[in-house]
Amino acid sequence: MEKTLVLIKPDAFSKHHAGAIIDRYEKEGFRIVAMKMLKMDARLASIHYAEHIGRPYYGDLSGFMTSGPIIAMVLMGENAIARVRKLNGKTNPAEAEEGTIRKQFAESSSRNAVHASDSPESAAREIPIFFNQMEIFDADDAIG
Ligand code: ADP
Ligand code: MG
Repeated sequence: MEKTLVLIKPDAFSKHHAGAIIDRYEKEGFRIVAMKMLKMDARLASIHYAEHIGRPYYGDLSGFMTSGPIIAMVLMGENAIARVRKLNGKTNPAEAEEGTIRKQFAESSSRNAVHASDSPESAAREIPIFFNQMEIFDADDAIG
């Protein structure tokens, strides 16, 4: 069982797609083991997107991610990190496969509806940025 961090980005949230996106993950069999709504500030964006600082699009990325509320989730499942990335689809929705979340809900490669951790190392780094242990319901007695 793996855990991965998912963010429903401000574009999808403001267009009222949060429920439909969460439904896609649940229908695919992923278990929501943590969830919260929050607004990122520039500091949180710089921690989460540390590897992108200095890239030409970083200012736009930070401005976008801090522009409105987001939903942060930890999803759990067999091979969840790779499977959630596949369900999300390619960064650029024009290249995303039919049936992916980004194909359905993303408008561009910068306003692309969702984030998901891209490796076990990223998931291990990203999950504690948003959730502490008490907020993650991954114990057997919590998930039934
Ligand atoms: P992913 O979200 O698929 O892991 P990346 O890690 O490459 O994609 O980029 C992180 C985020 O930065 C993207 O989801 C997107 O919101 C933004 N981004 C990436 N590349 C660009 C770009 N060339 N122009 C604008 N925004 C970008
Ligand atoms: Mg990435």
